[in-house]
Amino acid sequence: MQTGIGEKTCGRPTKSGAPCKARFSGAGFACKLHTTSEEAAQVTAYELGYRHGWERHSEISQSMASANVEHLKRRIADLESQLDKTKRQHTVNGCQAVEVNGYGYLWRGTPALEVGDQVMLPENPVSRIKEGPGSWQGTVTALGTTYEGSLSMILRRVSQAASNS
Ligand SMILES: [Zn+2]
Repeated sequence: MQTGIGEKTCGRPTKSGAPCKARFSGAGFACKLHTTSEEAAQVTAYELGYRHGWERHSEISQSMASANVEHLKRRIADLESQLDKTKRQHTVNGCQAVEVNGYGYLWRGTPALEVGDQVMLPENPVSRIKEGPGSWQGTVTALGTTYEGSLSMILRRVSQAASNS
């Protein structure tokens, strides 16, 4: 059987004795007229196998691609945490720096804040929209901050994290 792409000449002997000049493409033995039913069955089997092989191949490359994405995600998370460690400030202007709901704030009270503590925060343009006017309550989400701009002061501690009390 011939496989591969492109046109092939049949070449099977005809009644006149001259080789058949009919062309056929794809997998096969001969032109349609000269292909026996046994050969046709072989071609069908080959094409089925080829298609399944191809599907298997694309499954493998898909799983390889998603494995690569997973690897890159882990690598990025690694680098982010390394960068975070080098950038994270725990004390700014003599105050304890923390993150509340993910944003950097300063605390000058005692005792030091812990993750999970509830605190009152001064109004800012975002809180005004989200929480309404006036001070608003947030939760300490991290110790230290990587924010490099100016940080607002936490007004007071509302309650300590359950693990501390
Ligand atoms: Zn032929």
